[in-house]
Order: sequence, then structure tokens, then C-alpha cells
Amino acid sequence: MIIKAKKSLGQNFLKDKNVLKKIADISLLDNTTELIEIGPGTGNLTDYLIKKNPKKIFLIEKDEKLSKYLKNKFFDKIKVINKDILKFFDYEIFNKNTIIIGNLPYNISSQILIKFILDNNFKYKALIFMFQKEMADRILAKVNSKNYGRLSILSNWKFDIKKLFDIKPSSFEPRPKVESSLLFFSEKVDKYHLKNPKSLELITRILFNQRRKKIRKSINNIFKKNNKIISDLNLNLDLRPQNLDIKTYCNIASKYNSHKIS
Ligand code: SAH
Repeated sequence: MIIKAKKSLGQNFLKDKNVLKKIADISLLDNTTELIEIGPGTGNLTDYLIKKNPKKIFLIEKDEKLSKYLKNKFFDKIKVINKDILKFFDYEIFNKNTIIIGNLPYNISSQILIKFILDNNFKYKALIFMFQKEMADRILAKVNSKNYGRLSILSNWKFDIKKLFDIKPSSFEPRPKVESSLLFFSEKVDKYHLKNPKSLELITRILFNQRRKKIRKSINNIFKKNNKIISDLNLNLDLRPQNLDIKTYCNIASKYNSHKIS
């Protein structure tokens, strides 16, 4: 069967055997863990991950043709789920020993990550996701740096994140235009407790919409100029969005949530 890569589904298949092996070796998979792979494509990476003998393997693949191909390739050793990960809510296949791995479709990779950040019903031990390097840099960015933004705040609120390694365009077929990076995410044990994590998404969206402006105006808008609430937050309103650390964003989000100003 000839598989032609679909651009619309972000299909760049990993071909480099050294890279595939390296990912499997670093994956923490063994016979005590389970695997969920997102966007397995033709199963190139799956072939290497299987060798680690995970207890169960689920593949979530949106492309119907590829799903059929994978079912044929792996028989019933592996459960192939022909669904869109962004619309996937079958929480029962996830548990605390699950490792979720994906060479993600780059056009929706940040949406996929945000889904795992905001939805508390997913259980897992770790996520290992591939991104375009430029997006990985934004995820990893620290406060006061040029790349620091919504994605850095949301990701680092929830996860301890490590960069595993970069991958060259020549390792893929078809070749993407840019370099890729593989990141490892494990949930922070001491993360700031937010009753409603969506409020952090909202607050960061409002503030970073005015990326270069002082935060004064946005904060006034968010809290409808309620001076008492604003002064309780103890903010320097002359700062700009990239100068506030994650804890400060969480303080603003939780204040917003508890006052529900509408
Ligand atoms: N992991 C494979 C393929 C990566 S390409 C490899 O490394 O070779 C990205 C894969 O994600 C493609 O197979 C594509 O069909 C699939 N995909 C795209 N959008 C998806 C979605 N919304 N949900 C699940 N899979 C998706």
C-alpha cells in the first residue's frame, strides 16, 4: 500500500532509525507501563516503542486510511483508535502508568498540548511530544525573555519540562521546513492550585493580546477598575506582560475566578 503524506494532517513521517531508537530508549517505556501514541502515522515510531514491551498500546490516529493500515500491520496486539485527539474524551484508557508519545501534527500541536494542560481527567505518567523547534523554544521560555508568552506560562504552570533533543528536517519524509525538538513533560507535584485552569488561559490571552503594552489597561479591564481587588494583587502596573512570572499570572487568574466579575 502506498501512503502519500497529507499536508492537511501535518503528516511528516519520521524515517531516521537512529532517532526512532533514541526516542524509544528515552521513553521510560517498560513492561510496567502502558503506551498511548498520538498520530502514529505509518507506525514507524510504534515499531520501536513496541520493543520496550509496554503492557498495553493504544494508537490514536485521525486518518482513516492510516488507521486501517495500522490495524493490518499490528493485528490485535495493539488497539487502533480512529479519532481526532482534539475530540477524544475516552478517559478510561488513560492511567497513572500511561506514557503518551507523539510526533504531533505541527499545525495543531499547541492545541493538543493545551488540551492536556487544561483537562484534569487525563491520567498519565509523562508526555513526550515533538514540536517545531521554534514552538518548543516558546514552551520552554523563561520570564523576561522574548519568547515568553501564553504557552510558556500554561505549560510551566502544569509541568516540569525537559528538552530531550533536537531533530533535523532530514530525519523526516516529507521534510519539514524547520528543525524539531522533543520535549518531556511530567506533572508538577507542587503546582499552584487553580480551581479553574481555564481562567489562566483567559487571563494570559487578554494580557498577551497587548504584548508590548503596559499591563495597566488590561488589568483595569479584567477587574472593571475595581481598585480594591487590583491593589490586593500588589502588581506593578507599569510592567509588560512578559515581565510577570507564572505565580503572578496564577494569582491574577485565581482572583479573577473568585470574584467572577462580569
Ligand atoms: N508518528 C508518525 C507520524 C507523525 S505525522 C511518525 O513519526 O512517523 C502526524 C500524524 O498525526 C499523522 O499520522 C496524522 O495523520 C496524525 N494526525 C493529524 N491530526 C490528528 C488529530 N487531530 N488526531 C490524531 N492524529 C492526527
